[in-house]
Amino acid sequence: MVAEFNETEISVIRDIYESQKSYFREVGKTKASERIHKLKKFQKVILQFRKELQEAMWKDYHKPTAEVDLTEIYPVLSEIRFAIKHLKTWMKPKQVGNPVTMIGSSSWIHYEPKGMCLIIAPWNYPMQLLFAPLVSAIAAGNTVILKPSEFNSHTVEVMKRIVAEAFEEKEIAMVEGGVETATALLNMKFSHIFFTGAPEIGKIVMAAASKHLSSVTLELGGKSPTIIDETANISKVISRIVWAKFVNAGQICIAPDYAIVHESKKEEFVQCMIDQIKKHYGENASTSPDFLRIINAKHFLRLKGYLENTLKDGGKVIYGGAMNASENYIEPTLVDNVPLDSDLMKYEVFGPIFPIVTYKNKQEVIDLINSKEKPLALYIYSQSKKNIRFFVDNTTAGGTCINMSAVHVGNPHLPFGGVNNSGIGKSRGHFGFIEFTNERSMFKQKWPSAIEFMTPPYSSFKQKLID
Ligand code: NAD
Repeated sequence: MVAEFNETEISVIRDIYESQKSYFREVGKTKASERIHKLKKFQKVILQFRKELQEAMWKDYHKPTAEVDLTEIYPVLSEIRFAIKHLKTWMKPKQVGNPVTMIGSSSWIHYEPKGMCLIIAPWNYPMQLLFAPLVSAIAAGNTVILKPSEFNSHTVEVMKRIVAEAFEEKEIAMVEGGVETATALLNMKFSHIFFTGAPEIGKIVMAAASKHLSSVTLELGGKSPTIIDETANISKVISRIVWAKFVNAGQICIAPDYAIVHESKKEEFVQCMIDQIKKHYGENASTSPDFLRIINAKHFLRLKGYLENTLKDGGKVIYGGAMNASENYIEPTLVDNVPLDSDLMKYEVFGPIFPIVTYKNKQEVIDLINSKEKPLALYIYSQSKKNIRFFVDNTTAGGTCINMSAVHVGNPHLPFGGVNNSGIGKSRGHFGFIEFTNERSMFKQKWPSAIEFMTPPYSSFKQKLID
């Protein structure tokens, strides 16, 4: 079931909340087979709505059908399949050892759901980032209220129907709306809040969670660097960089945000980038069916402002730069001579503009990266094991790909998430299951306990034993 929200209808949210509150324990008691049944139904319903999702995302921001399949539907389905395959193992109590002083007892970890959960999602991957954590929450046995972004009206409309078709409101419900809706939800007491969005909003979510001491997963963003060192085989890897930078028109949290290129490779890198961009999107990306638009005027103007300010500060467009406000179009754009204190190097770009800076020695690279917040992702293009080791050992990041970009998010065996400003907590696969689970310590005494021999009065004999 799904509820529409406006300011006067906060009682609708409260009703949903109350219905989940009186039901979450029942959901928590469900066996693996029942949760698997729910996940299978979810999978079936998503597939039924495949065409509607494709059409909606085209209307929202020109997302090509192939990308809807590859980056929205497929990741959610693979998350579902992975959970179905492993859920029995994940839920199975885990026997652990006992220290010798606890002889005669047994200890195990009992995996219980956190309870009532809230998932708040952004607009850039509207389905994947709402439904992938939902899979983990269902697998762990929780009730969930979902709050998608307000910016993808067509997609939200379809997701609303998917949720209504697949679930009962007292278990999983979706509430539409923007900041006011999110604020109303954040005033309520949830056991766990899973938020994906900007670091600044993550702080608001964490502050709200602290009022109830709700646990949080914060999947945030920031500037993810791409290092191209003097040994990189540029022509071989260039499509991996161009694809990751311009898929979704750069509106991806793990997009290469800026390139740090060894000065000896700059010319080759720029030429390969330009050639590859043309291969992907043609001479004029505005006519390509495969290139997205910026989600709305607000973000279009934000990007336009970053570019204009950076050009005023001395930056130079070496490819692209065309814009069309009437359709929020920004051409794939490469910017050179970028001052380190310019907008394009200060803020997360989150769009199809790629600032390029050069370096002479490795120390400059780590100094630049470490002068900024810890990145969500860090990409290293190099054939030198020594250099790769140096870059990894001297930085930190939520995830790192070597000679590749962005695909780590697709491996359910890896934890996905950031570090501090780029995120708190991990998601996907077993990591997502654990995020929505309370690992309850269980201890059972079978035989007389050693403690019983050590109760007061502490005689000299007992003291000797302690010594
Ligand atoms: P956003 O933080 O503006 O919005 C995300 C969600 O928060 C939306 O549902 C929105 O309605 C809600 N929200 C906005 N303002 C709020 C407020 N004051 N109080 C409560 N809720 C509020 O982010 P966005 O613009 O939708 O997405 C872009 C950001 O998300 C980028 O920083 C990007 O890096 C990050 N992101 C991170 C990941 C990840 O997995 N780490 C994935 C995608 C996007």
